Amino acid sequence: MNEPTPEPGPLLGPHEQAAFAQSVENVRRAGAMHLAGHRAEDAVIAFVANVQHGVDGLVAKARADGKRIDCEAGCSHCCKARVETSAPEVFAIVTEIDGRPTAERTELIAALERRLALPSQADATWATRPACPFLIDHLCSIYAVRPTACRKAHSTDVTRCTSYAPSIPQDLELALGAQALIRGTTMAYADFGVDATGVELVGAVVAALHDPSMRRRWVEGESVFAIGSI
Ligand code: SF4
Repeated sequence: MNEPTPEPGPLLGPHEQAAFAQSVENVRRAGAMHLAGHRAEDAVIAFVANVQHGVDGLVAKARADGKRIDCEAGCSHCCKARVETSAPEVFAIVTEIDGRPTAERTELIAALERRLALPSQADATWATRPACPFLIDHLCSIYAVRPTACRKAHSTDVTRCTSYAPSIPQDLELALGAQALIRGTTMAYADFGVDATGVELVGAVVAALHDPSMRRRWVEGESVFAIGSI
Protein backbone atom coordinates (compact mmCIF):
# COMPACT_ATOMS: atom_id res chain seq x y z
CA MET A 1 0.00 0.00 0.00
CA ASN A 2 1.28 3.46 -0.74
CA GLU A 3 -0.69 5.38 1.84
CA PRO A 4 -0.96 6.04 4.66
CA THR A 5 2.80 6.24 4.88
CA PRO A 6 4.58 4.49 7.74
CA GLU A 7 5.87 6.88 10.33
CA PRO A 8 9.58 7.56 9.76
CA GLY A 9 11.55 5.34 12.13
CA PRO A 10 14.98 6.05 13.57
CA LEU A 11 17.72 6.25 10.94
CA LEU A 12 19.52 2.95 10.62
CA GLY A 13 23.13 2.84 11.73
CA PRO A 14 25.84 1.25 9.56
CA HIS A 15 25.46 -2.16 11.24
CA GLU A 16 21.68 -2.19 10.79
CA GLN A 17 22.04 -1.11 7.17
CA ALA A 18 24.58 -3.88 6.52
CA ALA A 19 22.31 -6.45 8.20
CA PHE A 20 19.35 -5.30 6.08
CA ALA A 21 21.38 -5.49 2.87
CA GLN A 22 22.56 -8.99 3.82
CA SER A 23 18.97 -10.10 4.50
CA VAL A 24 17.90 -8.83 1.06
CA GLU A 25 20.81 -10.65 -0.57
CA ASN A 26 20.01 -13.91 1.26
CA VAL A 27 16.40 -13.78 0.08
CA ARG A 28 17.53 -12.94 -3.44
CA ARG A 29 20.01 -15.80 -3.67
CA ALA A 30 17.66 -18.41 -2.23
CA GLY A 31 14.82 -17.19 -4.45
CA ALA A 32 16.89 -17.11 -7.62
CA MET A 33 18.16 -20.63 -6.93
CA HIS A 34 14.62 -21.90 -6.39
CA LEU A 35 13.27 -20.25 -9.53
CA ALA A 36 16.13 -21.61 -11.65
CA GLY A 37 15.01 -25.12 -10.70
CA HIS A 38 11.25 -24.48 -11.01
CA ARG A 39 10.74 -22.75 -14.36
CA ALA A 40 7.21 -23.93 -15.21
CA GLU A 41 4.61 -21.15 -15.50
CA ASP A 42 2.57 -22.25 -12.47
CA ALA A 43 5.68 -22.70 -10.32
CA VAL A 44 7.07 -19.25 -11.17
CA ILE A 45 3.76 -17.66 -10.15
CA ALA A 46 3.32 -19.86 -7.07
CA PHE A 47 6.76 -18.80 -5.81
CA VAL A 48 5.28 -15.47 -4.69
CA ALA A 49 3.44 -17.30 -1.89
CA ASN A 50 6.81 -17.59 -0.13
CA VAL A 51 7.10 -13.86 0.44
CA GLN A 52 3.43 -13.67 1.45
CA HIS A 53 3.76 -16.45 4.02
CA GLY A 54 7.07 -14.98 5.16
CA VAL A 55 5.43 -11.64 5.92
CA ASP A 56 2.50 -13.41 7.63
CA GLY A 57 5.09 -15.17 9.79
CA LEU A 58 6.76 -11.89 10.76
CA VAL A 59 3.39 -10.45 11.85
CA ALA A 60 2.62 -13.58 13.86
CA LYS A 61 6.05 -13.44 15.51
CA ALA A 62 5.63 -9.80 16.45
CA ARG A 63 2.33 -10.64 18.12
CA ALA A 64 3.83 -13.69 19.85
CA ASP A 65 6.66 -11.49 21.12
CA GLY A 66 4.08 -9.29 22.80
CA LYS A 67 4.48 -6.34 20.45
CA ARG A 68 1.50 -4.06 20.02
CA ILE A 69 -0.22 -4.66 16.68
CA ASP A 70 -3.69 -3.13 16.73
CA CYS A 71 -4.95 -4.65 13.45
CA GLU A 72 -7.83 -7.13 13.69
CA ALA A 73 -10.54 -8.66 11.48
CA GLY A 74 -13.16 -6.09 10.52
CA CYS A 75 -10.81 -3.13 10.92
CA SER A 76 -10.33 -1.93 7.37
CA HIS A 77 -9.24 1.72 7.47
CA CYS A 78 -6.08 0.89 5.51
CA CYS A 79 -8.17 -0.70 2.73
CA LYS A 80 -8.77 2.79 1.34
CA ALA A 81 -5.13 2.99 0.36
CA ARG A 82 -3.81 2.57 -3.16
CA VAL A 83 -2.37 -0.96 -3.24
CA GLU A 84 0.77 -1.84 -5.15
CA THR A 85 1.13 -5.47 -5.93
CA SER A 86 3.24 -7.53 -8.35
CA ALA A 87 2.52 -9.54 -11.48
CA PRO A 88 2.66 -12.98 -9.82
CA GLU A 89 0.32 -11.77 -7.07
CA VAL A 90 -2.07 -10.50 -9.75
CA PHE A 91 -2.08 -13.88 -11.52
CA ALA A 92 -2.70 -15.71 -8.23
CA ILE A 93 -5.68 -13.42 -7.54
CA VAL A 94 -7.03 -13.97 -11.07
CA THR A 95 -6.79 -17.75 -10.64
CA GLU A 96 -8.81 -17.46 -7.43
CA ILE A 97 -11.46 -15.27 -9.10
CA ASP A 98 -11.65 -17.55 -12.16
CA GLY A 99 -12.43 -20.45 -9.83
CA ARG A 100 -15.55 -18.77 -8.47
CA PRO A 101 -19.13 -19.52 -9.60
CA THR A 102 -19.96 -17.57 -12.77
CA ALA A 103 -22.46 -15.15 -11.18
CA GLU A 104 -20.07 -14.31 -8.33
CA ARG A 105 -17.16 -13.82 -10.74
CA THR A 106 -19.28 -11.60 -13.00
CA GLU A 107 -20.45 -9.47 -10.07
CA LEU A 108 -16.91 -9.00 -8.77
CA ILE A 109 -15.52 -8.03 -12.17
CA ALA A 110 -18.35 -5.49 -12.54
CA ALA A 111 -17.42 -4.00 -9.14
CA LEU A 112 -13.75 -3.79 -10.14
CA GLU A 113 -14.65 -2.10 -13.42
CA ARG A 114 -16.93 0.39 -11.65
CA ARG A 115 -14.02 1.29 -9.41
CA LEU A 116 -11.69 1.72 -12.40
CA ALA A 117 -14.27 3.95 -14.14
CA LEU A 118 -14.18 6.48 -11.29
CA PRO A 119 -12.07 9.59 -11.83
CA SER A 120 -8.41 9.14 -10.88
CA GLN A 121 -7.90 9.15 -7.13
CA ALA A 122 -4.22 9.99 -7.42
CA ASP A 123 -4.69 13.33 -5.66
CA ALA A 124 -7.31 12.17 -3.13
CA THR A 125 -6.44 11.93 0.53
CA TRP A 126 -6.54 8.69 2.46
CA ALA A 127 -9.77 9.78 4.17
CA THR A 128 -11.64 10.62 0.96
CA ARG A 129 -10.64 7.70 -1.24
CA PRO A 130 -13.26 5.01 -1.91
CA ALA A 131 -12.45 1.66 -0.33
CA CYS A 132 -10.78 -1.16 -2.23
CA PRO A 133 -13.41 -2.99 -4.32
CA PHE A 134 -12.26 -6.30 -2.84
CA LEU A 135 -13.45 -5.10 0.58
CA ILE A 136 -16.91 -6.52 1.32
CA ASP A 137 -18.59 -5.96 4.71
CA HIS A 138 -15.27 -4.74 6.12
CA LEU A 139 -13.54 -8.02 5.22
CA CYS A 140 -11.09 -8.75 2.41
CA SER A 141 -12.85 -11.00 -0.13
CA ILE A 142 -9.53 -12.26 -1.50
CA TYR A 143 -7.93 -12.73 1.92
CA ALA A 144 -6.05 -15.96 1.12
CA VAL A 145 -4.37 -14.41 -1.93
CA ARG A 146 -4.26 -10.75 -0.86
CA PRO A 147 -1.13 -8.83 -1.86
CA THR A 148 2.00 -8.77 0.27
CA ALA A 149 1.52 -5.02 0.71
CA CYS A 150 -1.76 -5.70 2.53
CA ARG A 151 -0.15 -8.39 4.71
CA LYS A 152 2.70 -6.06 5.62
CA ALA A 153 0.48 -3.07 6.50
CA HIS A 154 0.03 -2.76 10.27
CA SER A 155 -0.45 -0.15 12.95
CA THR A 156 0.74 0.07 16.52
CA ASP A 157 -1.91 2.70 17.27
CA VAL A 158 -5.34 2.26 15.72
CA THR A 159 -6.45 5.75 16.82
CA ARG A 160 -4.10 7.07 14.14
CA CYS A 161 -5.93 4.95 11.57
CA THR A 162 -9.43 5.92 12.71
CA SER A 163 -8.46 9.58 12.44
CA TYR A 164 -6.83 9.02 9.03
CA ALA A 165 -3.56 10.48 10.28
CA PRO A 166 -1.02 11.24 7.55
CA SER A 167 1.43 8.69 8.97
CA ILE A 168 0.94 5.47 10.91
CA PRO A 169 3.28 4.15 13.63
CA GLN A 170 4.70 0.74 12.81
CA ASP A 171 6.99 -1.82 14.40
CA LEU A 172 10.42 -1.17 12.91
CA GLU A 173 11.68 -4.75 13.09
CA LEU A 174 8.56 -6.07 11.39
CA ALA A 175 8.60 -3.36 8.72
CA LEU A 176 12.28 -3.93 7.93
CA GLY A 177 11.95 -7.72 7.86
CA ALA A 178 9.01 -7.50 5.49
CA GLN A 179 10.81 -5.01 3.28
CA ALA A 180 13.85 -7.30 3.03
CA LEU A 181 11.63 -10.21 1.96
CA ILE A 182 9.83 -8.09 -0.63
CA ARG A 183 12.97 -6.51 -2.07
CA GLY A 184 14.88 -9.79 -2.18
CA THR A 185 11.97 -11.57 -3.87
CA THR A 186 11.62 -8.83 -6.48
CA MET A 187 15.35 -9.11 -7.20
CA ALA A 188 15.15 -12.91 -7.43
CA TYR A 189 12.38 -12.59 -10.00
CA ALA A 190 14.51 -10.05 -11.90
CA ASP A 191 17.45 -12.49 -11.88
CA PHE A 192 15.09 -15.06 -13.37
CA GLY A 193 14.16 -12.58 -16.09
CA VAL A 194 10.67 -11.44 -15.13
CA ASP A 195 9.37 -8.11 -13.85
CA ALA A 196 7.82 -8.29 -10.36
CA THR A 197 8.00 -4.58 -9.57
CA GLY A 198 4.98 -2.68 -8.35
CA VAL A 199 1.72 -2.40 -10.28
CA GLU A 200 -1.61 -0.97 -9.13
CA LEU A 201 -3.88 -3.76 -7.87
CA VAL A 202 -7.31 -3.11 -9.40
CA GLY A 203 -6.17 -2.08 -12.88
CA ALA A 204 -3.74 -4.98 -13.14
CA VAL A 205 -6.29 -7.59 -11.98
CA VAL A 206 -8.91 -6.33 -14.45
CA ALA A 207 -6.37 -6.37 -17.28
CA ALA A 208 -5.30 -9.94 -16.48
CA LEU A 209 -8.91 -11.13 -16.12
CA HIS A 210 -9.61 -9.92 -19.66
CA ASP A 211 -6.37 -11.18 -21.23
CA PRO A 212 -5.40 -14.73 -20.17
CA SER A 213 -2.30 -14.55 -22.40
CA MET A 214 -0.68 -12.06 -20.00
CA ARG A 215 0.30 -14.83 -17.64
CA ARG A 216 2.32 -16.73 -20.24
CA ARG A 217 3.81 -13.60 -21.73
CA TRP A 218 4.93 -12.41 -18.29
CA VAL A 219 6.69 -15.69 -17.53
CA GLU A 220 8.41 -15.39 -20.92
CA GLY A 221 9.87 -12.05 -19.80
CA GLU A 222 7.47 -9.47 -21.17
CA SER A 223 6.49 -6.50 -18.99
CA VAL A 224 2.74 -6.85 -19.39
CA PHE A 225 1.37 -4.29 -16.93
CA ALA A 226 1.37 -0.51 -16.94
CA ILE A 227 2.05 0.78 -13.41
CA GLY A 228 -1.40 2.45 -13.17
CA SER A 229 -2.48 5.29 -10.92
CA ILE A 230 -5.92 4.46 -9.46
S1 SF4 B 1 -6.88 -6.47 -1.26
FE1 SF4 B 1 -8.00 -6.94 0.63
S2 SF4 B 1 -6.61 -6.35 2.32
FE2 SF4 B 1 -5.85 -5.36 0.43
S3 SF4 B 1 -6.78 -3.32 0.38
FE3 SF4 B 1 -8.14 -4.67 -0.79
S4 SF4 B 1 -9.67 -5.43 0.70
FE4 SF4 B 1 -7.94 -4.57 1.87
